[in-house]
Amino acid sequence: MERIAFSEYGLAAMSHRPGVLDWPDVMPPLVKYALTYLFVQAEFGLCCPLSMTDSLIRTLRKFGSSALIKRYMPALTTQDFDELWRGAMFMTEQGTGSDVSATSVRAEPRADGSYRLHGDKWFCSNPDADLAMVLARIDGAPSGMSGISLFLLPRRYESGIDNRYRIIRLKEKLGTRSMASGEIRFEGATAYLIGQPGRGFNMMADIINNSRLSNGMRAAGLMRRATTDVLFVARHRQAFGKRLIDLPLMQRQLVKLLMPTEQARTMVLQTAEALRRAE
Ligand SMILES: Cc1cc2nc3c(=O)[nH]c(=O)nc-3n(C[C@H](O)[C@H](O)[C@H](O)COP(=O)(O)OP(=O)(O)OC[C@H]3O[C@@H](n4cnc5c(N)ncnc54)[C@H](O)[C@@H]3O)c2cc1C
Repeated sequence: MERIAFSEYGLAAMSHRPGVLDWPDVMPPLVKYALTYLFVQAEFGLCCPLSMTDSLIRTLRKFGSSALIKRYMPALTTQDFDELWRGAMFMTEQGTGSDVSATSVRAEPRADGSYRLHGDKWFCSNPDADLAMVLARIDGAPSGMSGISLFLLPRRYESGIDNRYRIIRLKEKLGTRSMASGEIRFEGATAYLIGQPGRGFNMMADIINNSRLSNGMRAAGLMRRATTDVLFVARHRQAFGKRLIDLPLMQRQLVKLLMPTEQARTMVLQTAEALRRAE
């Protein structure tokens, strides 16, 4: 695919940040979501890791230090699948779902500027990701939302040794079973602060908002896939000497499906374009 200069697509505001310009080409949201709209019609489960990685990159570029951007962007953006690193977000705890202000995972400061994480996360999709954005409370930080910070957690140290956390178990889910979700326990895992301390939820909300659009797009894509299957049957099945698609009542039924399918697609792509303008 032709690569596109990012200044043309509204991300120029990031260009004052050292390190960011080393990855000056991005795909505009409209193209990205259009491609995912097509992809999800063939394979649903992979779209979660895809969206999580995309969202992690976006937040890292926006708020991460230039040292972290330089260290991790090559692996996150490589097109060599054996070398590619995937992203995740570890936010939810057993006692903390919608109300993130009760986050209890601790971040213990270390002399070298990094942190050690302690505690449990309860619902982590793509739990074996190579990098995760994690919400935690720095020791001594105030209670409530203003005490929550964002951290970048590598699965392995640069030496290749595993970081100190474990997947305790995988979730028994009703849906998206082809993509694992799990519970995670931090046992002094090394992590790096992203952005300002105490602004963790604001930055995580950026990831969540990006995921919302991705989820909407996936739903729109599945509607299209279902409609395509219906159209295939209607074009090929014969009844009363005619193809189903030529029967007036069937046509009325198909329009009832096609209309919301097209509306959903239009809404998602319009929102993607609004995202580009908002940037
Ligand atoms: C498939 C799947 C994948 C997930 N992946 C991840 C992941 O990768 N990383 C991660 O961190 N988390 C993940 N989660 C967890 C998800 O973020 C939480 O489920 C979500 O934040 C809601 O929390 P909860 O389940 O504890 O519900 P609760 O917050 O306990 O809510 C229970 C019910 O109360 C309602 N409710 C809550 N607050 C209000 C309010 N103020 N007013 C009215 N109603 C309210 C909710 O809508 C809900 O119906 C995933 C969940 C699912 C289902």
